[in-house]
Amino acid sequence: MEHNKAPGPDGFPPEFYQVFWNVIKPDLMALFDEFYRGTLALNRLNFGNIILIPKVGDASRIHQYRPICLLNVSFKIFTKAATNRIVRVAHKIIRPSQTAFLPGRNIIEGAVVLHETLHELHRKKLNGVIFKIDFEKAYDKVRWDFLQQTLRMKGFFTWCNCIRSFVQGGNVAVKVNGQNGHYFQTRKGLRQGDPLSPILFNIVADMLAIIINRAKDVGKVNGVIPHLVEDGLSILQYADDTVLFMDHDLEKARNMKVLLCIFEKLSGLKINFHKSEIVGFGQAKEFENIYSELFGCRVGSLPFRYLGLPMHYKKLKNSDWRHVEERFEKRLSGWKGKLLSVGGRLQNDQHKKKYHLIKWDQVWQPKQQGGLGIIDLQVQNKCLLSKWLFKLANEDGIWQRLLRNKYLKSKPFGSGSKKPGISHFWAGLMEVKHLFLGLGSFLVGNGSQVHFWEDTWCGSQPLKFIYPSLFNIVRNKSATVADVMSSVPLNVSFRRGLVGERLRAWHELVGVVMRVPMRGGRDVFKWSLNKIGVFTVNSMYKHLVSNGIKVSQEIWKTKIPLKIKIFMWYVKRGVLLTKDNLARRNWNGHQGCCFCNKRESIQHLFFDCQVAKFIWRLVFMTLDLSPPRSTQHLFNQWSSQGGRKYKPFLLVGAAALIWAIWLLRNDAVFDRKQPTSGEHSGSAIGPSCSEMKTRSNGLRKALIILRWRRCGSLVHLDGSFRPEFRSINGYVEYLTSMKPSPVFMLFMWMDEGISPEIVFPDTSIVMRLVQFVKATGMVPVLLEAE
Ligand SMILES: [Zn+2]
Repeated sequence: MEHNKAPGPDGFPPEFYQVFWNVIKPDLMALFDEFYRGTLALNRLNFGNIILIPKVGDASRIHQYRPICLLNVSFKIFTKAATNRIVRVAHKIIRPSQTAFLPGRNIIEGAVVLHETLHELHRKKLNGVIFKIDFEKAYDKVRWDFLQQTLRMKGFFTWCNCIRSFVQGGNVAVKVNGQNGHYFQTRKGLRQGDPLSPILFNIVADMLAIIINRAKDVGKVNGVIPHLVEDGLSILQYADDTVLFMDHDLEKARNMKVLLCIFEKLSGLKINFHKSEIVGFGQAKEFENIYSELFGCRVGSLPFRYLGLPMHYKKLKNSDWRHVEERFEKRLSGWKGKLLSVGGRLQNDQHKKKYHLIKWDQVWQPKQQGGLGIIDLQVQNKCLLSKWLFKLANEDGIWQRLLRNKYLKSKPFGSGSKKPGISHFWAGLMEVKHLFLGLGSFLVGNGSQVHFWEDTWCGSQPLKFIYPSLFNIVRNKSATVADVMSSVPLNVSFRRGLVGERLRAWHELVGVVMRVPMRGGRDVFKWSLNKIGVFTVNSMYKHLVSNGIKVSQEIWKTKIPLKIKIFMWYVKRGVLLTKDNLARRNWNGHQGCCFCNKRESIQHLFFDCQVAKFIWRLVFMTLDLSPPRSTQHLFNQWSSQGGRKYKPFLLVGAAALIWAIWLLRNDAVFDRKQPTSGEHSGSAIGPSCSEMKTRSNGLRKALIILRWRRCGSLVHLDGSFRPEFRSINGYVEYLTSMKPSPVFMLFMWMDEGISPEIVFPDTSIVMRLVQFVKATGMVPVLLEAE
């Protein structure tokens, strides 16, 4: 129960029960025992005070007040317990068109469905009538006999009595100016303030949806957009906020009117027709007046308001939001400045730009990283949109089906795109789609929703990044896993024959994908930023504001020399002085990479350059760790592949390799050991390998510098041509004879004079090493690269 709420007539707030729980517990549990035996006279606890809350300033008339009923906590504990139980089955007994107060359903879902429906009606120039209904004091008018009948109909039996004792037989008194009036018994309605009321109201309101659906089944009324929503969309509800959708048909509109009248009579709810609105689309537009006369309501216009939000088929203008903004401002002005958090005030003041103590992007940084931890609304928006994507990928409901039918048809989830004519909401989703998909992976079910090459489903990144040479020549780049895996051999066709390196890559790929089980059923998208695989706004937000890199402590905790820690910190922050960063500081030199002459940046030098790719590929072949794509990827998914236990080792290994690349690059740049242009600008892996060979001295030197044993590190990276190391066992013996024994070793042994293309496919050496490492219980690995 929430804290800091006004107490009921007995004056005990929930806090009292929590603080003195040890004292109260035996008595309260005894009450519950009596309740279950049916001997508790609950009406002796069922007392409430009705307080009138003014809805407007200077309220003077009774309907300008909202009545709230304050109940005793001793009573509310019972209804709260009942609520918790009903909520568990609520999604089964309340239609998905109702989105209020149900776990897993969200207020905005209704708004999304409405927005997409308006957009579809407009885009396809369809006929339709939208009827927004206003119920008068809905909660207070619910008829108890109708509630009981509804509950029985839904299959509640013993619960009917229980709920009767909660809802009926209560006594209330009206409190005005601090004075309590006489207690009297209520005869109808659900009390606002009782935790059970919202769910009971939904059960009652669901009857309207049932009545309309039955009429629809026998053809008496029609919904709209039947091509997107099965049987057509007829009703959206958020508690008592109701919108009806009708096809343009006066006869059926009359039927709808009859249904509404029947529902009014049965439920006791009363429709405020003069506050309800009707909007026509297509041909129905010209009949708006006839419809409004029929229902006795106003003709509305777009944008109209639903759930406090302005609704339109197009992107809203700033002026459309003015109403929301004004309301928000009014709320804020009521709060005392002192009570508003520093964060809240900063956000409000942002447009004034009064003080510039620090840069704004630093303010957004989480506290652990020296920022103030204030929410960045733009980033927050990306995260909120991503939440929709996650639900769209993994859940089923009205809005999910509508969006899938409207934009995806049966195509995979990832194939949605930004085309002209899409709704503003969908455009927003498509904008964050790539970002979102990059932060998780698919657990393959039947494979129909997963792109074989472009989605992440096997390993930590899409196959197109691991096997670019194959992806480049594949005919159907957007094939799904289901398409490809439907036959053996795999259903893939290439524009060119597979030979040499490509054939080898293909065999490797087949081996990898055949190991992934097809579980059948739906494909599931798993979120990578937490262990349970379920999206949270918080996890994504933290990820984005920290530049995609989790709290730096990971680096500071690793056992590597301080110098390299700082170096990695620079890499991670993207401020390492690569040539592009130098150019930003007005440096005028040549910006080409010293290995391949493409523009040098952190991304290029450590991930995209052929030299880097070569090194990461070695790691992939020996350890089955697919190459990292970016710093972000390296520090998150890549280093987490082996689980938490191995992360420190992988980070140390990654630091070693990146440091090695950096030294290699510095040798080339400063000592000019190699020409920096012309002959080495080739981009194929072949030339790069031979380049690696010619500069093997540089690389070796770099790796030798990485002997961190003296610093008590767990890493060993080394390379040697000494004959006694030609046998792996000899080499490992040599290594293990040193103290402390190295933990991270990556070994690649080669004969002089043999070209890398021939040697690298021969992974048997590596496999033997891995077996040896396993047998001796040592954790991998050592790199020797020529
Ligand atoms: Zn390069």
